[in-house]
Amino acid sequence: MKMFDFTCPKCGKFFYGDLTLIELKVPIHCPGCDRYFNYDEYIKILAGKKDVTLARLNKPLTEENMFEIIYIPEK
Ligand SMILES: [Zn+2]
Repeated sequence: MKMFDFTCPKCGKFFYGDLTLIELKVPIHCPGCDRYFNYDEYIKILAGKKDVTLARLNKPLTEENMFEIIYIPEK
């Protein structure tokens, strides 16, 4: 699974997402401020980054933890 990493321009939250979301052009959700970014918004943000696809996770992504990593805010 290829991942992107994203820093929310609104709240500064850093999080990961599945590149499939981008390929499908679906909105991505910031777990920090609960904002949704549509494709046109985030593709501009991602285009300004050097290595969009090189996000590294410190543990393997599984179906059980992917929503935790991608969507659930840290407490
Ligand atoms: Zn945010």
